Amino acid sequence: MVGKPTTTATPSFPDILDVIIVGAGPCGLAVAARLREETPSAMFTDDEHQRYHWINKHSGRMALVQAHQGKLKGVKADKWQRYDSRRGSSSTSSSSYSSASASSPPSLSSSVSSDQEISMEEGDDSDGISTLVLDSSGDQWMERWNKAFRTLEIEQLRSPMFFHVDPRDRDGMLAYTQESSREKDLWEISGCVGKELSKHKKKKQRSRAQAVGEVEIDERDRKDYFSPSTGLFADYCGSIVSRYGLDSPEMIRNCEVNDICYDYHPELSPSEKIFTVTTADGTRFYSRVVVLAIGPGRTKILPFKLSGDEEQGACHSTEIRTFPSPNVKVKIKQRQETNVVVVGGGLSSAQVVDMAIRRGVTKVWFLMRSDFKVKHFDLALNWMGKFKNFEKAAFWSADTDEERLEMIKAARNGGSITPRYQKILKQHMACHRLSIHPRTVICGREYCASSRTWRLTTDPPIPDLPRIDYIYFATGMQADVNELPLLRRMNHDYPIETKQGLPCITDDLMWQSHVPLFLTGRLGSLRLGPGAANLEGARLGAERIAWAMDEVLGRKGSEETGSERSKQCFCGLGNRYAELADVDG
Ligand SMILES: Cc1cc2nc3c(=O)[nH]c(=O)nc-3n(C[C@H](O)[C@H](O)[C@H](O)COP(=O)(O)OP(=O)(O)OC[C@H]3O[C@@H](n4cnc5c(N)ncnc54)[C@H](O)[C@@H]3O)c2cc1C
Repeated sequence: MVGKPTTTATPSFPDILDVIIVGAGPCGLAVAARLREETPSAMFTDDEHQRYHWINKHSGRMALVQAHQGKLKGVKADKWQRYDSRRGSSSTSSSSYSSASASSPPSLSSSVSSDQEISMEEGDDSDGISTLVLDSSGDQWMERWNKAFRTLEIEQLRSPMFFHVDPRDRDGMLAYTQESSREKDLWEISGCVGKELSKHKKKKQRSRAQAVGEVEIDERDRKDYFSPSTGLFADYCGSIVSRYGLDSPEMIRNCEVNDICYDYHPELSPSEKIFTVTTADGTRFYSRVVVLAIGPGRTKILPFKLSGDEEQGACHSTEIRTFPSPNVKVKIKQRQETNVVVVGGGLSSAQVVDMAIRRGVTKVWFLMRSDFKVKHFDLALNWMGKFKNFEKAAFWSADTDEERLEMIKAARNGGSITPRYQKILKQHMACHRLSIHPRTVICGREYCASSRTWRLTTDPPIPDLPRIDYIYFATGMQADVNELPLLRRMNHDYPIETKQGLPCITDDLMWQSHVPLFLTGRLGSLRLGPGAANLEGARLGAERIAWAMDEVLGRKGSEETGSERSKQCFCGLGNRYAELADVDG
């Protein structure tokens, strides 16, 4: 738990927190970080950020005021000294300033040095919003994400450089890469950057299907179209965690939330509704706001329900514990033939296929319900390039949620594989280790527990399909608010409309206008757009939630300090002339 609780409760009850975030994945992290960012990138340009952080760092050390005969636009030197003396109370702070750093040019806003400063300042900030994070995957940020990347041996992200969770700077990951000299950790996303189509040409082409690999991104944005290595992205997230002081031991609790209730509490809050969040072990937490950042939830999509026996011979890709499965491992060791089926159509399925072949499986049979689709990203390129605002404007101004749902479906268009993995799969096919079957489903199955193999029939039939040793279902997760156990009570007490499981929440991402349960990530798709389920959604969602949170919690610390006013003045916020009133003579 971090920060001061807002209410002191009776001794028998814990305090009421300001915010409980359920889910410590990218979306949860983006919200927690955004709530501690004073100068979000949505409000400040990169130049303003640079100026702001440079001033923060050097105020009182540079002769700013003296150089202008004692006054600089009415801001007196002593204001900056006061600000500096607040920071100077920490010995770490003053010792971290070297004369070299004072005279060095302003660095990018997300520089390593400014990160350290913020972290130190935030740690002292006892007026912050009290926050607790609950996560069923672990007690660290991004545990589910890290586990998925480890299990599938994913070396790089699929998304470009501006998909990240840093609230401060859209180009933050690029800056971090340069500052830490990690350019070697970038992989160029080739084939999508080039001359962008004009609006006229786009309109003409709209009726035609988008050819794979067609260039959609303007040349000047080339720097964005690299994807970070898994390690670089993890380190960047780590730097965000420490910058905002989100690494205190009590910040995240490892537990599964299975009930959320919003009501008056006779002892704790008889006159104002609060949230009671109950975990699987019966522990209760209380808060004024809840943010649900649970990704797609925990319901796996399987083409058929597996019996107890069948579970020995198959699993969902999110449930892979050892790879390959023990029976396949033994056979490979004994140099026996092995056959594995992978069902799916997205990148995860291709990654499982590749991993199985690299680990020595004789042949993989890759079955997909629809066509074999190749795309750079989960989203169509027109949602990423220069004209993405055109698409987003159309999305936000759509008349109905049904229309929005259709736009989401069209933009995502089911699972797809990247050109890089297409190439890898082609190589496996050339070596007769892989057989790909688009538009094919399993229509009959028989699992023999003693031989631990399957006899499968497919539609259309695959000639000579041998007995199968193991089936992997990389068939995704179902995000349906009506089915999520932790929302059962909210659905009952505050019913809302849904479209194919996606909730019709407010534009502020709230459950209802008077129910401050915020939903971000995939569950916010009908408001955030097709990128909601990706890292882009994490940043967009956090931004909207932070705006609304100000209103719900009420602004804290309304009495501004001189330093805050001065900072605002330099950043072009508020009334600059108000400062003149304070100037002596
Ligand atoms: C293998 C893989 C690779 C991907 N690569 C990319 C990529 O490169 N770029 C990109 O933009 N997107 C990628 N994605 C999509 C990715 O899932 C999202 O970008 C991102 O994980 C969404 O973050 P999230 O916080 O919404 O969800 P998650 O990462 O799923 O985090 C949700 C968290 O909530 C917790 N939780 C769920 N239910 C409960 C509960 N009842 N109680 C407590 N805790 C709960 C979970 O344990 C989890 O830790 C990838 C997805 C996968 C599966």
